[in-house]
Parts: sequence; structure tokens; C-alpha cells
Amino acid sequence: MGADHPTGTTAVDDPLRHVTVREAAGERDAFYLAHLWSRWFGTEYEHGDRYSSGRLPYPLCRVAGWEVDAEPDHLDAYGVVVEHDPSDRDCVVQIGGGLVTIDTPAKTMESLPDGGFDAEALVGDRNAWLWFGVVDESWRGLGLGRRLFERRLRWARDQDADMAFAFGWEHDGRTSRPLFEAFGFVPVERFQRLYEGDRDVCPECGALPSNDATCTCAGVVWATDL
Ligand SMILES: [Zn+2]
Repeated sequence: MGADHPTGTTAVDDPLRHVTVREAAGERDAFYLAHLWSRWFGTEYEHGDRYSSGRLPYPLCRVAGWEVDAEPDHLDAYGVVVEHDPSDRDCVVQIGGGLVTIDTPAKTMESLPDGGFDAEALVGDRNAWLWFGVVDESWRGLGLGRRLFERRLRWARDQDADMAFAFGWEHDGRTSRPLFEAFGFVPVERFQRLYEGDRDVCPECGALPSNDATCTCAGVVWATDL
């Protein structure tokens, strides 16, 4: 019972021993990421029509391997999924994921909210956008959010992105601030109601597709040079 390892953690105790962080590829991964994006941010399934309900947000069509003609302002996209594959069970479970796109300067200007900052001076030629990074509740606190960041930023640098942007969601004292700061991001501006009028799903403040409410949570625009 661990007698061989009187100090430290044994391999058997490592909660991440059957966890993999890898590039998202194919329809299963794309629909999983679409689910996360929709569940947390209300992002709609819009493009493609493979099945009766087979639509995806545009950047995820690339992840799925679909060809669609739309939104050339997203130059490229890359998804990451986190999987748990315990050896004593015969199924792989997705436990987290994230998405990054490379966007044109015009698209980036459009995505940034109006604030007290000079957006034109901030925007680069190739702009990485970290759209969401989500880890299942029971897998938090193990560094997986950090690994989602690392993978996406490494890919963005490999694509010659010169700037990276993200929205940091803040609610009830919970904030992703330490994570952004650990990766060199600086806060551009904090908005008391960043998502109001726009995001119609928020598990924190009660905005649902079935009501007229939109998210009233605060958010920070984060940016960094790459
Ligand atoms: Zn909210």
C-alpha cells in the first residue's frame, strides 16, 4: 500500500496519468468544442449542413475537416481537447477543450469592444484569439487550463501570429487573471458588463436561450505580443 514510496506521489496516485492533451481533429472533436462554446457562451451553430442539425461555428468547420465558404477574416483555427482514457474502462471521455483562431486586423477591430483604448494601435497583422478554454469542474486545479493555454499559444506562434487577444470572464470573485498574467498577457480594459446584449447564455448569471436575459458578468480584454 504505497510502502515502496514513503515520500512523494506514486504514479498510481497521479490523477493525470490517463489524461491526454492533444490537437482537436475530426467531427467528434469539433462537435464537442461546439458544445462547450455554445454551453458557456451561447455561440451558435451556423455553418455547414452535413446532417439535419450538422452545423458548426465557422472556425470549427476547419477542425471537423469540412470545407465551407464563409468568413475569410478567420485565417486559420486550431482546437485542443483534453481526454481521459482510463485503462480499466473502454471509453475515452472528453473533459476539456479550447479554441484559437488567427484573424485579420479588420476582424480583430470588429471583435474588440469599444473602450478607452486605441484598438488600431493594438491590433497586429495576424491576431490570435483565444475564444474559450474550459475544463470540466471535477478536473480543475490540476494545471489542465494552463496546458490548454500553452498548446494554443505555441500553435499561434508557429502560425506567425504577432498579437494574441482574449476575453477574461469575471464573476462572483472567480477570475482567470492569474492564468493570463502567467502567460504574459496584460489587461487592456475591464468592462463591468462586457457581454451584455450579446451573450444570451451564461451559467453564472441566469441568461438562457429561453429568456430574454443576456449576460451581465464583467470581463477583461487581455492582450499580449507574441
Ligand atoms: Zn454572466
